[in-house]
Amino acid sequence: MPSPSNPSEIARETLRLLASRRISPSPENYRDIYNEIAGTSGNLAENFPKRELQALQTALPKETAVQQKLVKRFEQALKGRNWDELRDGIAELVKQLANEHELPWSDLFRDFLRQWENKQAGLTVARKREAIERVLVAAAGNSELLFGRLQGLVKSWAGSAPADGDIPLVDPGTIAMPEASLPLVGDIVADSATRTSELSSDLRDLFAYTFEDLVTTQLVDEPELAADARMLAHKVRCATSPSAQQGLLAGIKRFAFRLEILAEDRAELRAGLLNLLQLLIENVGELVTEDRWLAGQIDIVRDIVASPLNIRSIGDAEGRLKEVIYKQSQLKRSLNEARESLKQMLAGFVDHLAEFADSTSDYHDKIEYCAHRISMAEDITQLEDVLAEVIRETRIIQLNAQRSRDELRAAKQRVSEAEARIGELQVELDRASTLVRHDQLTGALNRRGLEEAFEKEVARAQRRQSTLCVALLDIDNFKKLNDSLGHDAGDAALIHLATVIRETMRPQDTVARFGGEEFIIVLPDTSVGDAQTAIVRLQRELTRRIFLHNNDRRLITFSAGVTDLQPGDTQVSVTKRADEAMYMAKQSGKNRVMIG
Ligand code: GH3
Ligand code: MG
Ligand code: MG
Repeated sequence: MPSPSNPSEIARETLRLLASRRISPSPENYRDIYNEIAGTSGNLAENFPKRELQALQTALPKETAVQQKLVKRFEQALKGRNWDELRDGIAELVKQLANEHELPWSDLFRDFLRQWENKQAGLTVARKREAIERVLVAAAGNSELLFGRLQGLVKSWAGSAPADGDIPLVDPGTIAMPEASLPLVGDIVADSATRTSELSSDLRDLFAYTFEDLVTTQLVDEPELAADARMLAHKVRCATSPSAQQGLLAGIKRFAFRLEILAEDRAELRAGLLNLLQLLIENVGELVTEDRWLAGQIDIVRDIVASPLNIRSIGDAEGRLKEVIYKQSQLKRSLNEARESLKQMLAGFVDHLAEFADSTSDYHDKIEYCAHRISMAEDITQLEDVLAEVIRETRIIQLNAQRSRDELRAAKQRVSEAEARIGELQVELDRASTLVRHDQLTGALNRRGLEEAFEKEVARAQRRQSTLCVALLDIDNFKKLNDSLGHDAGDAALIHLATVIRETMRPQDTVARFGGEEFIIVLPDTSVGDAQTAIVRLQRELTRRIFLHNNDRRLITFSAGVTDLQPGDTQVSVTKRADEAMYMAKQSGKNRVMIG
């Protein structure tokens, strides 16, 4: 019989042979007999269905790193026509899919809660919430991606310095999440490009809002870029089809590139302005070396400008410069006044001197004339007239001399009065100037400075929906210390306490002298429990850094009340609550911190 040639004949002949040889019709036996009849080698590699498998590979998900790794493996196996590798790859993919439902969510949530409650330097609750929202948007509908991103975020929080450490002053607004956990615009678009159908209208709205409202507010000085941002927002809203969304990607990338250039320009401008400011401050410093207070203020401003800038330090520098300008103008005015009155007095004195000289030279002439008449006198009656004239002239000159002396005395009196007035003015300026914001003894803010700082902190807390605490401290038994060591020692103790407060509290905390031996500390982004802990830590620090007076160790303690800002609170109401809590601390034995 001729050997069958078409596949159906070969198949029929295969079945016949299987039956006649009494071989069980398993797929392997069928394949062997079939190859025998068809004369093919039966080598699997030659029959490798590459095209079909490639189609399968294209359809595999490639969203996560693990999935991408598996697809790569699949691709390698296809290239090498390696069935074993393909089999293992598919098995792993299936296993991984099953694992996806076994992600350790409970561990992640435990870590998440811990880090949520922990305080991290510069990371506010609002900032954390914002980061989570971004992760949720970026990983919408993909649980594994969500798990990875959340895990990255929690890790980044754990890596931040704790809020109560010695950390540099950093504006929370500038703290960024690590890149791994930040869903950048490009990432989101790239992610979305692989699942274009998932770019929901919510997500498009969010993009449009970002361009239209958030980005444009940053571009008030760049109207062209702002117009582009609005245009992009419009395009995002209209990009409902996958192809339109793909087209949008290039536009967004171009825009991001221009933003990057703008950011570089702005950084350069900022650096230039800072240099200019530093130069100005150096020069003002040279001018004010005569006045110790002014020179001290300028030194502080110079230090502020030299360290990393943020909104609080700029505010502080501005306040201090305003004080310098105000005090300089006052001093100049006083100096001009003093100079003017001295000039007037000198002019008056010179006039008198001239008058006096005139009258004395007149007197000399007259006396000379009288002497002449005496020498020529021939009888006593003539002498009598001359003598009467001499006596009259001498009396006139005597009166003149007396008047000049009196006027000189009065002028001297007026000079010393003017001097005293300038001195008083100076003291009054130091003490009661409405523009001075710092307490002259301790360098902490005074009441006016506190008022301004408080207003700013309340506005910031409301904007960021973060908590704000106020602590009121009152030194224990301060009168006793004053009475036993003297007022100067009391002053030194106040300076010591202010220094320890400043060096122990975080840079963003505001320290003010509220009254004689009372201080107020404003703690932004702090819960009332944490504020109490911070003030207790300050008490411990004060025990460690003991106050020394003439080598005599004196322990200073204080009682404090702590409270947090409630809706509707004013500075007066919140201070009153802190004061009441402080009073309770005094009542229950002093040297303790109570919450009000
Ligand atoms: P308590 O523990 O109840 O607070 O008692 P205290 O003695 O600390 O409080 P009291 O209010 O009786 O006394 C406060 C003292 O602080 C009285 C005042 O002489 C002193 N004081 C206020 N301002 C200054 C200052 O600027 N320098 C100095 N050396 N003492 C001051
Ligand atoms: Mg007091
Ligand atoms: Mg006291």
